[in-house]
Amino acid sequence: MPMQKIIIAIDGYSSCGKSTLAKELGRRLGYHYIDSGAMYRAITLYFLRNSVNYSDPAATIDAIASIHLSFEFNEKEQRSSIHLNDEDVEPFIRDMLVSDKVSEVSAIKEVRAFAVAQQKRMGRRKGIVMDGRDIGTTVFPEAELKIFMTADPEVRVMRRFKEMYATNPHINIEDVRHNLELRDYIDTTREESPLRRADDAILLDNSNLTREEQLELVLGWVAERSAHPHPVNGLSIKN
Ligand code: C5P
Repeated sequence: MPMQKIIIAIDGYSSCGKSTLAKELGRRLGYHYIDSGAMYRAITLYFLRNSVNYSDPAATIDAIASIHLSFEFNEKEQRSSIHLNDEDVEPFIRDMLVSDKVSEVSAIKEVRAFAVAQQKRMGRRKGIVMDGRDIGTTVFPEAELKIFMTADPEVRVMRRFKEMYATNPHINIEDVRHNLELRDYIDTTREESPLRRADDAILLDNSNLTREEQLELVLGWVAERSAHPHPVNGLSIKN
């Protein structure tokens, strides 16, 4: 019997390798991979470029009304990238300027309502793997498979440093460490859907796992959960 499509929700701290795992799962399963963090980063980029005073709720609501986000497949790079008002902004959203502000912006109620509504729509047909901070708790509380990822803080700092160093050799490891600590702090303590492990999420600590070991482990969980998919009308989609 062919495997039924499910929803896979991956949450966890910054730089735990969530998107690496989610991308690999997407490829192996033929599922859509959605990087929800890229959406918050693109919104932050828009706010910075347009000097939006996001401490003012009216200005924030106005600005959000001018934002259109989509994921488009980039043939040349063979990956999907986020588009902000039809511009591919993937090259800009991981800059330190955006990383420094993204957790402040994503803590804003109106910003979250906008992003979450779009994320829920993307899950309508299942066959989706989404990573972020509130996917198993808020976006898809009914997801068949929820994973909460964690890794040793030093392992995370080194991973992020190497990733950023590839495009910016002037990056300083202390700045990377500070940014990760600050984002984790804001993400776990904010009022609006803070980062936390859903009661039914499987804890995955990948500090000592290779990418291949991790993928095989998770594919086993997917096979198990695909045998009992939840009914589509069980999803809390209001939009
Ligand atoms: O996943 P990534 O590290 O790119 O996410 C950037 C930031 O976006 C996070 O630190 C967090 O503040 C925010 N975020 C969020 N909810 C999500 C995904 C990301 O608040 N579902």
